[in-house]
Amino acid sequence: MKTIFAKSVPGRKGVWPEEPEGQITDFIPENLLRENLPALPEQSELDVVRHFTLLSRRNFGVDSNFYPLGSCTMKYNPKFMEDIANLSGFTDLHPLVPQLRGAGHYTQGALEVLYETEKLLCEITGMDAFTLQPLAGAHGELTGVMLMAAYHNYKGNKKTKIIVPDSAHGTNPASAAIAGYEVVSIESRDGIIDPQALKDALDDEVAGLMMTCPNTLGLFERHLREIVELVHSVDGLLYYDGANLNAILGKMRVGDVGFDVVHLNLHKTFGTPHGGGGPGSGPVGVNKKLEPFLPISRVVKLEDGQFFLDYDYPFSIGYIAPFYGNFGVILKAYAYILRLGREGLIRVSENAVLAANYLRKKLEDYLHIPYNRTCAHAMHEFVASAVKQAQKGVRALDIAKALLDKGHHAPTIYFPLIVKECLMIEPTETESKETLDQFVDDLIEILKIAEENPEAIQEAPVNTPVKRLDEVKAAREMILKEQDM
Ligand SMILES: *Cc1c(COP(=O)(O)O)cnc(C)c1O
Repeated sequence: MKTIFAKSVPGRKGVWPEEPEGQITDFIPENLLRENLPALPEQSELDVVRHFTLLSRRNFGVDSNFYPLGSCTMKYNPKFMEDIANLSGFTDLHPLVPQLRGAGHYTQGALEVLYETEKLLCEITGMDAFTLQPLAGAHGELTGVMLMAAYHNYKGNKKTKIIVPDSAHGTNPASAAIAGYEVVSIESRDGIIDPQALKDALDDEVAGLMMTCPNTLGLFERHLREIVELVHSVDGLLYYDGANLNAILGKMRVGDVGFDVVHLNLHKTFGTPHGGGGPGSGPVGVNKKLEPFLPISRVVKLEDGQFFLDYDYPFSIGYIAPFYGNFGVILKAYAYILRLGREGLIRVSENAVLAANYLRKKLEDYLHIPYNRTCAHAMHEFVASAVKQAQKGVRALDIAKALLDKGHHAPTIYFPLIVKECLMIEPTETESKETLDQFVDDLIEILKIAEENPEAIQEAPVNTPVKRLDEVKAAREMILKEQDM
């Protein structure tokens, strides 16, 4: 089996050398200092304001409208975190400024934020150690699977496969495959993992199981303890995809349940606006078994209270990202966690689950709900299906487009793959009851029109800057360059 390892950079192990006293600019080589200001194009302030205001009006964001995108937790992100991420002590900090003594006073605060954020995430998840390096959830997955591979290699285990349930997000099998494993998919039963299917797939070559809980159908995996025992019985490792942490914050700690490795999506759960590819942060938490293999560098606290980045971990999988991860996103998560506190984080998950179940209940007479469970099992999002409507020619895609005309973002559609014509709805905890009710009214109106006049829905959207796209043409004749409109 092929596994990949990042190479560590020689000469950067251990504590940094003695550092001279001085100003930040003293540390930058003279030939890299700018002599003149750069020649940038000039525009009047008014033209710039008009340009960006126009763009922002065409843009869709959670700051202007409801964004019930399942699986991705598009919640409102309080603005005070932007202020904190904008503090010049953080934004002006160059990643190569020395850490200790000398100019070290510039970096100590940032290092402390990294250190404290790791501790908070350990507390929230019940894991023993965290790395904040990974730059997205998928990157965290790859890091996590590399940690699993390092563990098995260290123990001399011959492991070739990773099990992934069929409800998994596509990045799970992709991460396992990129790390060199064969992916074994198991079929869900009633929307959750079937312990019998897991037993049938388990053997000594299984490196581990990757799972999400609540899963991508918004259902809590009821056989969790049995699953953990089964996988551990073959010295397999349990990977927890933490993209849905919003549903269990303060309610369950995955470390306590027996998971060995977990990634979180700070940009989903802990208050960074996202979409369009970034910025993200996918910290990875591990228990003691996997801690020696964490990527470098790791932030440590010295006895005198100073912080520094240590590169001296002989079993580490090495570098997985430049510098220290997406620092701004980490900083916002830190501020968010401190601002909400334990009580606040518990209310996040309670209100997120309440909002989803409220919508599910209100829509169950209008859309088919394949896994229509009570609140204890249905969590922060739910999957509805437009199978009835599709018989009249109105598909999930058409309903999603019609919602754009009403000013809502579309739910996630056609994912998870195991439900036909599905719409996956995640309202999040930040929406008011009025917004949820408006969404329900608009959706019901769309479904009524779909019955009487399906063509009207098939033509949507008509109110957006760009109308219905020819998706086949777009896929076949891709234009990847900007063109004059
Ligand atoms: C979003 C998501 C991912 C991937 O995270 P990114 O930060 O987008 O890379 C993985 N799994 C699930 C269940 C997700 O919802």
